[in-house]
Amino acid sequence: MSISRNILHLKEIIPENVTLVAVSKFHSPESILEAYEAGQRVFGESRVQEFLEKYEELPKDIKWHFIGHLQTNKVKPLIGKVSLIESVDSERLLELIDRESLKAGVVTDVLLQVHVAMEETKFGFYPEEIIDFFNERRFENLKATNICGIMGMASNTDDISRIKEDFRKIHEIYSEIRNNKDLNLGKFDRLSMGMSGDWQFAVEEGANIIRIGSAIFGERIYP
Ligand SMILES: *Cc1c(COP(=O)(O)O)cnc(C)c1O
Repeated sequence: MSISRNILHLKEIIPENVTLVAVSKFHSPESILEAYEAGQRVFGESRVQEFLEKYEELPKDIKWHFIGHLQTNKVKPLIGKVSLIESVDSERLLELIDRESLKAGVVTDVLLQVHVAMEETKFGFYPEEIIDFFNERRFENLKATNICGIMGMASNTDDISRIKEDFRKIHEIYSEIRNNKDLNLGKFDRLSMGMSGDWQFAVEEGANIIRIGSAIFGERIYP
């Protein structure tokens, strides 16, 4: 199947309230344009340099989500160019995004990444860290950053019950924060989970952003 047909097919089967992020990391600008021509406007990248090159070259009405682990020394060039940083995995990173956004005179939308998967290698806050962060109202120090929700990944396993359990856990954390009216969070309403192999389960468990790469663009060829 071609990229445009993959996009059109996904748009048909994904519920209307769910935002599809086409994860284009490691894929060429030409491939992104093919998806763009099919109507896709939201793309996900995970490496700063690669993102910046594509950002310069591609249409300006694309909404870029940054979804990879972000080193603190690479924050500045992203600010004002990304529409959502989904992968905020430490308070230090959050504070830096806030400082750079303030300096640049923009407000940056972010998601906090939560770690529930069994792999040690996945980045993110542990669930209790996120809950503490909100209960202690540490988000109130932010001046130019909106925390819009939570991003998470399921364990990399064939065990479907474990995948569903991971998504349920991520949804629970999201709901606990969202339903705590004392926090007064405003628009805390985005739950990003699910990739090519597991997005159906994620949507069943309440995801309203899904991040799909290989099911659109084919396998990634890593250099
Ligand atoms: C690469 C990546 C995806 C997309 O993965 P596919 O399996 O190709 O759909 C989604 N989310 C994150 C955080 C990624 O790094």
